[in-house]
Amino acid sequence: MTRLHVLIAGGGIGGLVAALALLRRGVAVDVFEQAADPREVGAGVQLAPNGTRVLCALGLESEMTAIASMPAGKEVRLFSTGQSWKLQDLGEQAVARWGAPYWMVHRGDFHRVLREAFEARAPGKLHKGARAEGFTQDADGVTLLLTSGERVCGDALVGADGVHSRIRETLFANERAQFTGIVAWRGVVPMERVPAHMRGAVGVNWIGPHGHVVMYPLRRGELLNMVGAVERDDWRVEGWSIPGSTAECLRDLAAWHPDVHAVIRAIDIPYKWALLSRDALPRWSVGRVTLLGDACHPTLPFLAQGANMAIEDGMVLARCLERYGDDVATALRRYEQARLDRTTRIVRGAQDNAGRFHNPELADAAGAAAFVDREFAPDKVEARYNWLFEYDALSVAV
Ligand code: FAD
Repeated sequence: MTRLHVLIAGGGIGGLVAALALLRRGVAVDVFEQAADPREVGAGVQLAPNGTRVLCALGLESEMTAIASMPAGKEVRLFSTGQSWKLQDLGEQAVARWGAPYWMVHRGDFHRVLREAFEARAPGKLHKGARAEGFTQDADGVTLLLTSGERVCGDALVGADGVHSRIRETLFANERAQFTGIVAWRGVVPMERVPAHMRGAVGVNWIGPHGHVVMYPLRRGELLNMVGAVERDDWRVEGWSIPGSTAECLRDLAAWHPDVHAVIRAIDIPYKWALLSRDALPRWSVGRVTLLGDACHPTLPFLAQGANMAIEDGMVLARCLERYGDDVATALRRYEQARLDRTTRIVRGAQDNAGRFHNPELADAAGAAAFVDREFAPDKVEARYNWLFEYDALSVAV
């Protein structure tokens, strides 16, 4: 049998993980990334055991440990009084329980680890400044069309080109995105600028009646990441690199605790973007072409699972191509069947968390305490997170 050759459009988190997993299985891979100098935005990403298990299996544990923060746990804090409640234990307990760590990383650091690993293992196969435009396919193969006019042939094509995927558009025409009524703020600050009592190795979910704010350490505690989501109707631009101002961010979170304000003031430039939601796709694959990550199941960030899903996709896809590679269409169909229910459930779970994190009952402290005791009771937290973290993309049936 000749060696399978897979083309991947998009060298983000999902595309590079898929590429590394395919390489490990002896598949030839070329990755086409639109950015001439790929680098991620300054923001954090939380990698749960379901994602880190895959990264460790790809041989990246020591590189990831060098850039990650491993929080001891997470807590919930009330927007007004700052009262805190334990949400969950992580740290060594996560490793003992789920067999893999919970890491909080800077996206730029993480992307660099993936990129360097791929470029070391497959020199010259990450094609930068290569934007996918479309494709054609027939019984013998698939041809990727780049905007440069170049055409590249392979056995399978994976659209890992993110939320505005060209490959998805070519497969299924464009789907509709709807504004959620939520605008998000983000910023990363050196930890020494943050009040000393906020420098612990924990993730904090601040919750309030019309918004929530997530804070967690990055880069072994050198940086603090902040993302704030507020209900607001007057900003609908989805872009990730639109600077806002400290004054506007403070205005959006005016009623919030001084600890939140202290972090906002420490951010040099807070960025803002509108959160859009999209209906789940009923299918992802047509013949020799499939999708992966945000290209097929974009999600609100309220379960911190978008990147983790993309990582799981990459491993399951590679396993399917290894197992059914002599029939690419079957391999891609098996991949989609293995992933569709789980990813749909995660996207819905993230939507549900908006109602939980932004609940009107949080407006007054007494009502908030009852709400938190009920909604964040250990059995409810267990039910919301355990099924996410215990999933094993390395052994799930394909
Ligand atoms: P991307 O990471 O977007 O990568 C797509 C790549 O394709 C990019 O490099 C892009 O340049 C390239 N590309 C695009 N078009 C083309 C083209 N036509 N041709 C070639 N290349 C192209 N997830 C978590 O798991 N945990 C978190 O804590 C978390 N926090 C988040 C916080 C925020 C505020 C947001 C917005 C998201 C968060 N996510 C989180 C979600 C996560 O970032 C995404 O789900 C993840 O990046 C998806 O990976 P991907 O590879 O599918 O897409």
